[in-house]
Amino acid sequence: MSDVTLGLSGLEKTYNRGKPGEVQVLKGIDLEVRRGEIVALVAPSGAGKSTLLHIAGLLDVPDSGEVRIGGAAMNGLSDRRRTRVRRQQVGFVYQFHHLLPEFSALENIVLPQLANGASKPAAEARARELLDSVGVGPRADHRPAALSGGEQQRVAFCRALANAPQLLLADEPTGNLDPATSDVVFGALMALVRGTGMAALIATHNLELAARMDRVVRLEDGQVLHGAP
Ligand code: ADP
Repeated sequence: MSDVTLGLSGLEKTYNRGKPGEVQVLKGIDLEVRRGEIVALVAPSGAGKSTLLHIAGLLDVPDSGEVRIGGAAMNGLSDRRRTRVRRQQVGFVYQFHHLLPEFSALENIVLPQLANGASKPAAEARARELLDSVGVGPRADHRPAALSGGEQQRVAFCRALANAPQLLLADEPTGNLDPATSDVVFGALMALVRGTGMAALIATHNLELAARMDRVVRLEDGQVLHGAP
């Protein structure tokens, strides 16, 4: 297996191409995230972080350039194959938790595992283990509305990791929390990712959080700049 879990090369993306509102967001992105590495993606709002993460997570396609996950080129895969790679190999966390409101915390983590072919007892055992590891075990049977913002986000992390993906992509995962909660929740995320060998690309505005990751890259004028912010 390749040591480069996520490889992006020459990615370009323009919205409204050829129209009055044309905006060239990505102008040749080259970035590699290796196995076990946690990389901060720092950029001002509107710089194209979400666009980059969506393309890396196979939720959108670039106009040109290549996405490789686990060493395999993703260009030209059928929608079915892309969906399968996304479900099995990529975990996604957003600024807002997007948990299913009518299901408990536990069920929110069980469901993606069932969709991936796990048995119910195995899925529940893994969900409990993940919730325990981020300190939300005692709230497993509560619905999202009964949880605090920090708890909701920790459940969302567990859901993203439910199928043991090799790549975690996160878009301002603590951006909606107050600074103290953000600190604790970010620590929980780091602890979850460390030790799994997973690669993570985490977009954040927060330079203190960025400094706690292994490496910082900046997105500026449609390109990735490597080095300290
Ligand atoms: P960030 O996540 O860094 O805030 P985005 O990737 O969301 O940035 O957006 C980058 C730029 O592309 C912004 O100027 C935004 O308005 C524009 N944009 C994003 N999505 C679309 C879209 N679907 N259609 C047109 N413009 C878009």
